[in-house]
Amino acid sequence: MENGQFRRAVYPGSFNPLHNGHLDIMKRAARVFDEIIIAVYEHPNKPQLFDVEERIGLIRESIIREGLTNIKVASFSGLAVNYVKSVGSFVMLRGLRVFSDFEFEFRMALANHRLAPEIEVISFISSEETIHISSSTVREIASLGGDVSSMVPEHVRLALEQRYAELQAEQ
Ligand code: ADP
Repeated sequence: MENGQFRRAVYPGSFNPLHNGHLDIMKRAARVFDEIIIAVYEHPNKPQLFDVEERIGLIRESIIREGLTNIKVASFSGLAVNYVKSVGSFVMLRGLRVFSDFEFEFRMALANHRLAPEIEVISFISSEETIHISSSTVREIASLGGDVSSMVPEHVRLALEQRYAELQAEQ
């Protein structure tokens, strides 16, 4: 808390599913801000491996396991800047992996600034240990029966195993 002002930041993303790269950013951000809201994007008409409630459940479990008491989780649809404003925040958090993210995040930050100049985008540089992780990589490896235990928390690994077994049984 600074100048008596409560600092709430919003970390928006797909989190499909949550992985250790996301968790690293969450834990570090939780030390910098009074409260973090993890905002899980609800894709309109686009089926996801885990639906929004499942993604929220997986994040909540990690938050509890890690004892992160100042992190909340919610879903949102529409523009992220509008969601940030709606919860009384002016900070949008993002994570930056090496070069691959930079152009995309830079473009997004400029577009968001045009939409809502009062919102600040704050990016955390990925840690070395998690820089290679993305949800799509995790999904691809898990779908092929590969070991993702070094990339995601154990309950997420189990959820992936179960989901791909279900999908295979349906075929
Ligand atoms: P992903 O790219 O893994 O599918 P999301 O779309 O859920 O992830 O991304 C939400 C935010 O988390 C984005 O700002 C993204 O750059 C960031 N992020 C994703 N993976 C990592 C990572 N390994 N390290 C740091 N930030 C990350």
